[in-house]
Amino acid sequence: MEQDDAYLPPSTPDHPTPGQTTAGLTLVATPIGNLGDLSPRAASALAEARAVLCEDTRVTSRLLARHSISATMIALHDHNEESEAPRLVSRMLAGERFALVSDAGTPLVSDPGYRLVRAAIAAGVTVTSVPGPSAVIMALTLSGLPPHPFLFHGFLPPKAVARAAEIARLRGMEAAGLSAALVFYEAPHRTGEALAALAEGLSADRPACVARELTKRFEEVRRGSLGELAAHYTAHEVRGEVVLCVGPAPPPAVPSAETLDEALKAAMATLSVRDAAATVAEATGLPRKRVYARALELAAGR
Ligand code: SAM
Repeated sequence: MEQDDAYLPPSTPDHPTPGQTTAGLTLVATPIGNLGDLSPRAASALAEARAVLCEDTRVTSRLLARHSISATMIALHDHNEESEAPRLVSRMLAGERFALVSDAGTPLVSDPGYRLVRAAIAAGVTVTSVPGPSAVIMALTLSGLPPHPFLFHGFLPPKAVARAAEIARLRGMEAAGLSAALVFYEAPHRTGEALAALAEGLSADRPACVARELTKRFEEVRRGSLGELAAHYTAHEVRGEVVLCVGPAPPPAVPSAETLDEALKAAMATLSVRDAAATVAEATGLPRKRVYARALELAAGR
């Protein structure tokens, strides 16, 4: 694709180009560290909006100044989003276009904006987006881990007990068959303890990656097992912003014929042949038909 093609206006009315006066809401991704990462289309969307809705006007005013954009700003954050959404939606219905940004990256991704987007969609307002940086995608694509499917978790709970419970919940999902790379945002001072909790709750051998200070001067991507990374980041002070990626759970080991028989006999002690086969098939990942056939053989004394 020619470079210019990237900026050709999409043609459907649901995807207005910044510059059009169409009413609605444009989610605008902003840099995650390097202010040079604001795209030309993002700059136009900010310059041409009736107002820029932002988490922190001080942060956004630095970005706007760096790109010589003059725009009205309206603070929209976790504490006022619910109450402000109806008023903003009414203004959009009356013909105004707003741009929504967060302090960094893609709005709504571990950031405010969801409640406004939901209210706008419910009111029939056109919602579009100028996509761009997001730490989750940059970390995942640099991690060297299989990138899909992936589960973006956002922040783990900061307190140890709640964090361990959340990791146990993820482990339970994996035991039930989830096999996906896991991505977490984390505060720098909790990086070591979060990695240690993941190593304990998932497995110290799981391949993982810590992506730090992405797009900035001290960008660092460190790969290793959860155990190795936990040891490293517990021993070294962590500065800046951090994303943790964990490789998918390994597929369950295929049980031997003896193990299958033992599991079936134990299950058939309390369940019908059919239910025992279903339970064992679920637990082992073996095909239901095959397990049921073996259960019938065992029930017949073979
Ligand atoms: N909306 C943003 C996005 O799209 O990535 C994320 C906002 S969230 C409140 C902030 C967290 O994102 C940080 O604590 C860190 O985990 C991650 N993050 C943001 N910028 C980063 C960067 N440059 N390097 C590494 N992690 C970053």
